[in-house]
Amino acid sequence: MAQHDQLHRYLFENYAVRGELVTVSDTWKRILENHDYPQPVKNVLGELLVATSLLTATLKFSGDITVQLQGDGPMSLAVINGDNNQQMRGVARVQGDVPADADLKTLVGNGYLVITITPSEGERYQGVVGLEGDTLAECLEDYFLRSEQLPTRLFIRTGEAQGRPAAGGMLLQVLPAQNAQADDFAHLATLTETITAEELLTLPANDVLWRLYHEEEVTLYDPQEVEFKCTCSRERCAEALKTLPAEEVDTIIAEDGEVDMHCDYCGNHYVFDAMDIVAIRNNASPADPQVH
Ligand SMILES: [Zn+2]
Repeated sequence: MAQHDQLHRYLFENYAVRGELVTVSDTWKRILENHDYPQPVKNVLGELLVATSLLTATLKFSGDITVQLQGDGPMSLAVINGDNNQQMRGVARVQGDVPADADLKTLVGNGYLVITITPSEGERYQGVVGLEGDTLAECLEDYFLRSEQLPTRLFIRTGEAQGRPAAGGMLLQVLPAQNAQADDFAHLATLTETITAEELLTLPANDVLWRLYHEEEVTLYDPQEVEFKCTCSRERCAEALKTLPAEEVDTIIAEDGEVDMHCDYCGNHYVFDAMDIVAIRNNASPADPQVH
């Protein structure tokens, strides 16, 4: 039986190509909690989650990656943010009707895929590609091609495992500074492409690799846990409050007696009353515990 919410890395012994395999279930469920998204939006968030997990696993440094779809369609925004520890969060914004069978283009409309890489130390990098491909995987491959990074292929599947929604994906990438033959890479990609949602989401990683590459020599490394984690905090909200015009905050306090800040990612509420606001303005840290 497949163990979900784990990311596996693997390496082909006879080719300068590496691979990744991830499946998610709980992490996806947590991201969907506290929201009432139409099914096609849930699916896109699952695909984005898988993609972000695979992308953050390619980072050679600590930091995070945000993969974001935005456009003029009924799903104006879908975003997943994840870091090198595979801690993930995400949200979508939906306006108007979403047809039950809406594909990516119908959901996003005229739009873009925006990838932001933020190292813990150093320069932030942002890549933007138009939505040329029909699937998220194709759009991401387009991004890798245009940003002149290493040749990369992605394979993303959504479905169910043990009666629960699950999503999974695989990534193949040429190793840097080595001469992987284009033919070899294409051969491995052709093999990988045959993976079905059922196989990927129900078989242990070892069995998936055997099924795809039984004629190749593949080393599978210990998995890394993938989990939902939001980075919001009362302190960060207090920082954000400081950037708002004082009159605006005072008006809210006068009308409601408190400022209720809501995190779109996890649904947490952070409530600040008049005393807290005074404390924040005096740069003291607000004393109240966070309110769920
Ligand atoms: Zn949060």
